[in-house]
Amino acid sequence: MIDISLPQFEFPVLESGWVWLAGAGPGDPGLLSLHALNGLQQADVIVYDALVDERILQLAGNETEIIYAGKRGGKPSPKQSSISIKLVELAKSGKRVLRLKGGDPFVFGRGGEEALALVEARVPFRIIPGITAGVGGLAYAGIPATHRGVNQAVTFLTGHDQNGVAPDQLDWDALAKGSPVIVMYMAMKHISLITEKLMNGGRSAAEPVAVICNATQQHQQVLDTTLGSCADDIAKSGLKPPAIVVVGDVVNLREQLNWIEPALARTSQKEEEPAL
Ligand code: SAH
Repeated sequence: MIDISLPQFEFPVLESGWVWLAGAGPGDPGLLSLHALNGLQQADVIVYDALVDERILQLAGNETEIIYAGKRGGKPSPKQSSISIKLVELAKSGKRVLRLKGGDPFVFGRGGEEALALVEARVPFRIIPGITAGVGGLAYAGIPATHRGVNQAVTFLTGHDQNGVAPDQLDWDALAKGSPVIVMYMAMKHISLITEKLMNGGRSAAEPVAVICNATQQHQQVLDTTLGSCADDIAKSGLKPPAIVVVGDVVNLREQLNWIEPALARTSQKEEEPAL
């Protein structure tokens, strides 16, 4: 059990035969929830995805078995159904299972599908939400997802569907007209098509865009651009996924709210100061 005692709150026990389906947040281990940490410290086995930061796995117990269920080295990821089957098998064999996913398990994370498989197999489970990249990643770039007087709505969308193509199911004209801020996951591959669709729907080429790569991680990079230049700027920059692309006037707040770069500069200055 986690060594944090809170009066009037008892951390749950991860029982044998249970699966906890937890979000690990976008990277920075400090963004884990206490429930997720509690799960990491109790699990017999952890099944984790590509986007879970390695430093988080170090919080697991020494005896914990750690199973990788993501994509690596360009190889195709295990089929979703085989991951669900594995979770059910582990639970049925009496293990205490932590299924750890990047960000939030229920935001473009297929956590719902895994949970449904557990329901079908009558495996008891708990859901532990995580900080999703589309909110936490923005905050680490100094961009509020909503800001009074700027936007009263925000849309989260994915630039890929299950087949890897830009989602034709989305009504881009409606999004362009109706959503002042659009936060896009998995949008890098089809960025030129997506930005074109938004501009065709009436969005200005001058609208600010930020591309946040490896958000909240040590090598976070942010590209400031516009809807019209975004695709070219991404290509020139060589930036690679994982990235969140955010479109809308909230991006302008970054000029004043970009807290992390000054904080990092202060840390490195301190390191360079001669010892007294
Ligand atoms: N469940 C996750 C999303 C998984 S989909 C969540 O809630 O955050 C994978 C996509 O999420 C990536 O292609 C990227 O668009 C985004 N993403 C996840 N982690 C990220 C990070 N640290 N930095 C930038 N984008 C990230």
